[in-house]
Parts: sequence; C-alpha cells; structure tokens
Amino acid sequence: MHIASVGVSKLCFLLSLAFCGLLLLLIPAVQHQAGRVDLPQPRAQARPTHTAQARPTHTAQARPTHTAQARPTHTAQARPTHTGLQQHAKPPAVSVHHLHTGLNRSSAGQTEGTMVHSPSPNRGKDSNGKAGGLSGSGSRDPLELKDIFIAVKTTRKYHKSRLELLIQTWVSQAKEQTYIFTDGEDRELQTRTGVNLINTNCSAAHTRQALCCKMSVEYDKFIESQKKWFCHVDDDNYVLVLPLVALLSSYHHSQDVYVGRPSLDHPIEAAERVKSDGSVSVKFWFATGGAGFCISRGLALKMSPWASLGNFISTAEKIRLPDDCTIGYIIEALLEVPLTHTHLFHSHLESLLKLPTDTVLQQVTLSYGGFDNRRNVVSLVGGFSLAEDPTRFKTVHCLLYAQTDWCPQVQPHHSD
Ligand code: UDP
Ligand code: MN
Repeated sequence: MHIASVGVSKLCFLLSLAFCGLLLLLIPAVQHQAGRVDLPQPRAQARPTHTAQARPTHTAQARPTHTAQARPTHTAQARPTHTGLQQHAKPPAVSVHHLHTGLNRSSAGQTEGTMVHSPSPNRGKDSNGKAGGLSGSGSRDPLELKDIFIAVKTTRKYHKSRLELLIQTWVSQAKEQTYIFTDGEDRELQTRTGVNLINTNCSAAHTRQALCCKMSVEYDKFIESQKKWFCHVDDDNYVLVLPLVALLSSYHHSQDVYVGRPSLDHPIEAAERVKSDGSVSVKFWFATGGAGFCISRGLALKMSPWASLGNFISTAEKIRLPDDCTIGYIIEALLEVPLTHTHLFHSHLESLLKLPTDTVLQQVTLSYGGFDNRRNVVSLVGGFSLAEDPTRFKTVHCLLYAQTDWCPQVQPHHSD
C-alpha cells in the first residue's frame, strides 16, 4: 500500500509539472495575443492615419488651405477685392466728383475717355453724350439771366476810367450775376454801387501769371456759384444782356459748350507740355478773352483737373500761354470739345466801325479801342456825341434802356 501511495504521489507530481509546463507554454501566447490587441493596433492605425491622412490632410488641406485658400484668398480675393473695390468705386467716385466738384486729378483719365466729341458739336446731347439735351428756349426750364455768371476782369487802375462806365451801363441790368475780379480794395466803389467786387489778391501787373491768377479765381467762384453758365469779359466790353440770354438759351448747360470769337482765322499751335514732354505740338482754337466767351457748367466741371484751385495757373505755366489761350487749350486740346465760333462777340482787335449799324443791338458783346485819330468804336447815332460818349457804350445803353434816368429823354413827336 505504501509503495502504491508513493507511486500515486509521483504521478500527481509529474502531472502538476506537466500542467505547469503547459501553463508556461501558454503564457507567451496569451501575452502575444494581449499585445496584438492592445498595442500594435493603435500604432498600426495611428501611423497610416498620420501618413495617409493626417499628413496629406496637413499638406493637401491645411497648407493648401493656407496657400490655395488663405493666401489666394489674400491675393486673389482679398487684394483683388481691395483693388476690385477701388476699381469699382472709382468710376462712381469720379463721376460724382467730376459732376459735382470735379476736383480729382485722377478723374482726368477717366473723364477724358468719355469726353471725346466729334467736331460737330454735341447739340441735343448732354455732357455724357446722351441724347435729349434740351435747348433752353423750348424747354420747361427756360434760361434766365440769373442763371448766368458774368465775370469781368479788371485792375485797380481801371476802376475809374473803365469800370465806372460798365457799372453805369450794362452791369446795372445784371448786378446780381456780375462778379468783378480786380486786384485791389475799393470799398467806396462797392458800397456806392453795390456791385460784387472781388479782390483776387493777384498781382496788378499785366503779366501772364497775374492774368491767369485772375482767371483761376473767376473759375473757382463760378463753380462755387452753382450758376449754369460762365461768361468772361474784359472791362472794355459792353454785354448785351438779352442777346446773351437768347444765345445761351439755344444750348443746355449740361452740354459741352464753349462759345466765343476766335481771335485768329486759324488754330493756334503750341508745344504739348501737359500730356507729353513738349516734343510734339498741338493745334487748337481759342476764344479771345477781349471779346468775351461763355462755357456751360457741364463743360466747366470737366475742366476742373486743369482749372480748379490753382491748377489753371500751373496749366498755363506748362504751355506758357495767356489765360484765354489756356482756356482754349484745356477745352479743345485736352477735353476735345470744339469751340463754337460766333461773330456775336466783339473785341477791339477787329474793326468795330465795320459792324453794320442796324445789327449793333443784336450783338452779345461790344468793345472799344484806340481813341483819338485811331478810334475803333461801333458806328451808332444816338443821344450822345462822340465827345460825350467816346466809347459809344452810353449810346448803346440808352438805345436799349431808354427809360434810364441819365439817358436823354426822347421828346414826344408832335406832328401837328
Ligand atoms: N488788365 C489787368 N491787369 C493789368 C492790365 C490789364 O487785369 O495790369 C485787364 C484789363 O482790365 C482788361 C484786360 O486785362 O480787362 C485786357 O486789358 P487791355 O484792354 O488793357 O488790353 P488788351 O485788350 O489790349 O489786351
Ligand atoms: Mn482791351
């Protein structure tokens, strides 16, 4: 029995050894399985994700987002949006500027493109070339004298000898819309007559700079005035107010109108120093300032890049021409709007004696020059002798406004 129990114990021992051995054999398998489940799996997923998704995501989305969206957004959208906005905003800004204040130099290029007009005047078209510009006479909005800004250029030394005569005659009929541009104070004249006397503070010298300085102030004051027409005359001009209104009534102030008398029978030629370096020349007509000229508001606004706020002086300096030539240069050469030639305006450069007597009162402006034996005045017989009225302006005035208190009263004619 003892031997038998020892045998059973040995068998049990061997069996337990075999069991332990089996366990030992099983542990690595269990450990390996546990490792495959817990560790390699995340690593096996994380890596491919990192290379095939995360990184491509990083390059194909994040960076491309940065380059193809963020940066292109910055360049192709943000900046173009920025410039696109400017480009978009510019034309309205220009036209608003251009139409209402016209102070933007950069608008020149923009407006220039739309300002090319054929030499046949754009009658019946407004300044934008649209059809339907109304002639004043037949329109619902007829032109009135108050719509016209009349600038008279003078100098302090001519207040007594020239200006007083104008104030006594035609200016009295258009006091509110006449603006006298001078170069010195004259409170006495202003308070006594009630005229609009503007001291430009320009030099009193008869130089190009001084005369252009006055024209520059005339232009700015007109723009400020909101009136429909700008007319310039010298202090030796008589303005026939009603024929002036009648003439301008045949146009509309929004049309491009520059009307006056050319002083030459051919266009003037000058070196082009505004649009180019002066190596090419430019030909243009201009209305002589000594006969007077008128410009519509629509056109005057287009002139502003070269005429407003002192630009007129620098434009004149560039082309080295007097004030009236500079006006012609800006309008004909730069804006390509043709001068409307008229013989209704007169300076003393022409022979005023040759003007038929029966047409004198239908003219728009008159002038006088060369007293003594070289007298150049209109031929008109009236209430004043040549000695009493050497310029003939009083005679003209009394023929037009016979009721004026200082005009010789016409005696009633008694036939019986
Ligand atoms: N003028 C001026 N300053 C001067 C001399 C003249 O503003 O020093 C004006 C003058 O009052 C007139 C215009 O310039 O309105 C032309 O002057 P003027 O008639 O004497 O000369 P012309 O007609 O011969 O050019
Ligand atoms: Mn003159």
